[in-house]
Amino acid sequence: MAYDCMNTKHPVVVVGGGFGGVSVARRLLKLDIPVTLISETNYFTFTPLLHEVATGILTSDDITFEYASFFKNRKFAFIRGRVEKVDFDRRVVLVEGAEVSYGDVVIATGASTNFYDLKGREHAFELKSIEDAARVKKRMIELGQGVDGEVNVNVIGGGPTGIELVFEMELFLKQLRRNNPRLRYHLRVIQLGHVILPIFPEGIQRRAMKRLHRRGIAVELETAAERLTAETVETNRGSFVSNLTIMAAGVTPNVDCLKDASEALERGHVEVDVHLRVKGKEHAFALGDVIHLEDVPIPKLAQTATAQAEVVAENIIRARSRRPLRAYAPRVRGLLVSFGYGDGAGRIGPFTITGVPVWYVWRTVYLFKTPGLSNKLRVAFSWTIELFSKRNLAEE
Ligand SMILES: Cc1cc2nc3c(=O)[nH]c(=O)nc-3n(C[C@H](O)[C@H](O)[C@H](O)COP(=O)(O)OP(=O)(O)OC[C@H]3O[C@@H](n4cnc5c(N)ncnc54)[C@H](O)[C@@H]3O)c2cc1C
Repeated sequence: MAYDCMNTKHPVVVVGGGFGGVSVARRLLKLDIPVTLISETNYFTFTPLLHEVATGILTSDDITFEYASFFKNRKFAFIRGRVEKVDFDRRVVLVEGAEVSYGDVVIATGASTNFYDLKGREHAFELKSIEDAARVKKRMIELGQGVDGEVNVNVIGGGPTGIELVFEMELFLKQLRRNNPRLRYHLRVIQLGHVILPIFPEGIQRRAMKRLHRRGIAVELETAAERLTAETVETNRGSFVSNLTIMAAGVTPNVDCLKDASEALERGHVEVDVHLRVKGKEHAFALGDVIHLEDVPIPKLAQTATAQAEVVAENIIRARSRRPLRAYAPRVRGLLVSFGYGDGAGRIGPFTITGVPVWYVWRTVYLFKTPGLSNKLRVAFSWTIELFSKRNLAEE
């Protein structure tokens, strides 16, 4: 394949080493294109299992993987750091004062917890990183084994992140109570919309509501959290006692590094065209939670970021050999949600599956998505041991 010489010499610089960034880097390396990955940590975090770390089923080692453990290609380079600026005109990215030049750049910086206009956000916990998961776990232990022994959990957001977390928290607190009968706990989900799990079919929403009810977890629908204090969540429908509030009501794209390129942004996202090229920027692509594509709603999921990575890698090759680019159309293969260890529901193609099988499918899918063979084996071994042991109640 005939490449433009300049582009071949200059690698593709991928900014952000999450699902999108890692997938596009792997794909490009397979196609023999040199890649420089720049990310804030030297490991990939398997975010869909963060709630299991927060609740003692898994440990942080089970879901974080150092990039070097699965990028073994000699054409791969890694820089640990935060990209401060992408200069599209000069084709360089600025990392902690140094300039890294690129042939093409891929923006894959993901998103952070969205606190909207919530007042008192410093009182909220979140679940976006391994540190967040450790903090949630520590707080449950501090409160549950503390002098008062009272835990009042409020999860703001009834999407998959909030629902999966609250189910596991209930099981965690139940186990904590076995050693500490004084412990009292209450869990509540606060959801702005009129249903929970809005991206799931109605049958699964109803099933989740029944499970929550059976497990004693309260759900407040059509309720807007307005202000947090150290002891309460104040909403448009009254105030709830809370000493552990978790914000899980959506995300906001990480676009700090594009603050000088406002023409590339739309509604706080990186605006891409149907080829996932940053609008108006010839040598720049973007994917994952950070993008916006006009008139095309894209679910912010690991599976969409991974599918976009294929298109971006192919389009980089096509652009370099001056061939027409491939268009991206979002497609969700299946959706699974866990209702706590050993239970869940999901939709795969036309089929709805529920109960224990979902949980196994869910775990198997994640095992396959774990990057690198040695990591897969390590995780499979660790999960097998964990199947036969109790939750780990030690602080992370
Ligand atoms: C708790 C939780 C559960 C989830 N469960 C599921 C699920 O079950 N199924 C599913 O499909 N999706 C799930 N998701 C969503 C999924 O994790 C995201 O959609 C996916 O991670 C998006 O990939 P990304 O590459 O765009 O961003 P990310 O995976 O978030 O990666 C972005 C990376 O960029 C780095 N970065 C950001 N800014 C900079 C910068 N300026 N310089 C350098 N590096 C930077 C970040 O540190 C991070 O490593 C879940 C998310 C969460 C938080």
